[in-house]
This record gives sequence, C-alpha cells and structure tokens, in this order.
Amino acid sequence: MYFSDFSGQDSTKTQLLDLFKSERVPHALLLNGEEGCGHLQLALSFSSLLLCQDPTPLDSCKKCSSCKMYERYQHPDLHFSYPIHLSKTEHSETSDDQRSFFLEALEKYKCLGKKTWYSKMGNENKQGVIGVKESQSILSKISLKSFFGKAKILVMWMPELMNIQAANKLLKLIEEPPENTYFIFVSNNQSKILPTINSRLQSINVPRLKDENISAFLEERFQIEPSSAKNIAKISKGNLNKAITTHLDAGVSEMNRSLFVNWMRLCYSRNIADTIDWVNEFSKIGREQIKDFIIYSLEMYRQCIMGNYNMEIEGISESERSFLEKFKPFVNHQNISEINSIMNDAYYHMERNANPKILMLDVSIKLYKLLRTK
Ligand SMILES: [Zn+2]
Repeated sequence: MYFSDFSGQDSTKTQLLDLFKSERVPHALLLNGEEGCGHLQLALSFSSLLLCQDPTPLDSCKKCSSCKMYERYQHPDLHFSYPIHLSKTEHSETSDDQRSFFLEALEKYKCLGKKTWYSKMGNENKQGVIGVKESQSILSKISLKSFFGKAKILVMWMPELMNIQAANKLLKLIEEPPENTYFIFVSNNQSKILPTINSRLQSINVPRLKDENISAFLEERFQIEPSSAKNIAKISKGNLNKAITTHLDAGVSEMNRSLFVNWMRLCYSRNIADTIDWVNEFSKIGREQIKDFIIYSLEMYRQCIMGNYNMEIEGISESERSFLEKFKPFVNHQNISEINSIMNDAYYHMERNANPKILMLDVSIKLYKLLRTK
C-alpha cells in the first residue's frame, strides 16, 4: 500500500514527506494513534518511500524493483516485528515464525487490529508479547548489510507489548543504529511503551480517521456500495480495522448460512451424488474458512437445541432465524451429543491437514443417519 492508495491523514502524510525531502527522517520514529487510524498503513507506505529507487515528490515510484518487492511485503530490507503468542514451554518464537500468517492477515484486512491479529493466530483473548528472542532476531537482522545498499527498515507494530527484557536488549541499537537504518514504531498506546524506549523515539500523533475516509477506503478496496460503506463508517467511529472486520464478518456469516442451509438439505435428503458435488465445491473455500464454517455449524446446532427448549435465540440474522424455525426439530437431545462430537472431530482433523473433501463427505454421511433420529 502506498500513500496514494488511501485517502485521509493528509497532514501526517505531509509531515512524513517533509521529513523525507529534507533528509531529516529520524532513526527511531513513532507513529502513535488509536487502533484503526491508519498508522500501520502510513508506516508501510513511508517504508516503501525510503526503499524506493526513484521516488516522486509525493509518493514511491511504484515501478522500480524495490517497489515491486515491497508490494507483497517481500522486500529483503523491510523487516516486521509484532506481538505473537508464546507457547508455555518454550519462549523461542519470533515474529518471523508467524510471518506468513501476518502477511496473509495484512493482505486480507489491509488494516490490522489487535484482536483481528490475535484471532488469526488462533486465540483472540490471549495477549501477545514481543519477547527477548525477538530482540535477538532484530539485532541479527539489523547487523546484516542492506540488500540494495539503501535503507534498512524495521516496522514494529505495538511496541507497547514489548517486555522489559526485550526492550533492554534493544536500547543500544535504537540509540545508535547503524547507518541508513530506520525503526518505525506503530503504537496504539504510547503511554504504555516502556519509558526507556519511549524516550528514544521521535513521535508523531496520528489523529482519528474521518468517516468519509473510511467509507472511501471501503468503496475502493472492498468494492462496497456507497450507501452501505457510509453506514459501516458511521458505526466504526474512526476505526478502519473495525469497519473492515464488520464488512468481512457480515459477508462470511451470509456465506456460512447459505452453505449450511444447502448442506443440511442434502444430508436430510441423503442425495449422495449431489452431496459429492457440494463437497467438491465447498472444499474450494480454503482451510481457514472450512474451520470457520465448522464453528458456525456447531453454533447453529446449539441454537436448535435452545429453540427446542423455547429459549430465546439471540445474535442471529432474520434469515437464520427462519431457517432454524423449520430445522430445529431435526437436532434434538437424541442426536446432539453425537453431532457435536463429529463436528469437533472434523475441526480437529482440519487443523491437522486432513483432506477436506474426504473429511466433509465422511461427516455428511454420518449426518445422513443422525438427522433422521427423532
Ligand atoms: Zn520505486
């Protein structure tokens, strides 16, 4: 993403461009603002400018070999550091271990929020950390020669989640970085950055995004109708990440609903030829989406049971409600525990690289029998 790829934050863009033109770019820069204000995109766009071989007065050239590599965030002189979930036994993980996940999330959401990132790593409630192994990894990366002989950049997202040991290891490097090396920190909360680090940074405050910038972003990057883009922007209160996840979640839940309805009809009618066609099509949605779909299905079965006991069904759309009204008698106290265990097993095997076609056909055939239990 380049400066010209998103509207808004013009005064911050101007500040950054001025620093660049006057060759006064600090070696440790902090972009501080609320989540979803676009500061991560600004940090990335600014990085591309520092790496570009032929920049224009307003942006990177978008054509040189540096820009081409930057486009998929695969530039060898651009490094990322961000909080990750550390395992209990071994604290040896670094950001690079999650790099492909991180880039995938960046590609999908364009603007990342903390929860979005944590749930991408598998647990939205577990706090991420930038730990001491990460600092070691940064030290060794920064000591390498620049690939293109130009700038070397480390973008650190959420430095407020760096622990003390990690921070201590980086102090000297941030104080006296090698020539042409830039640290760009992107923080949601400057007051939580350890004071020893914070005092070494030159900071720029990034204000909230305006509603019109958010709706323009949704229209351009996600091809959303202007009227619904406006509505989403209004409820997101300046948080671009929230706007994007609201949009994507609505799309996913509609897709899951329609998949679920078709699948349950096929399982009930026991039409094997059509089930095989459905499974073949379904498995194309990808492993992560299949896992989402399994969780969605478990929730739908749970709602059926609630409905059977005349309990209030909450948090579902009108179209889900009308389907569940008709479908709920087929999921009952006789078959629910077996259905739950089949779906949980399916999730377990999806996580362990099971073939989705074989797995979902097997699950479907098991459901053929169970859905006829009255
Ligand atoms: Zn360029």
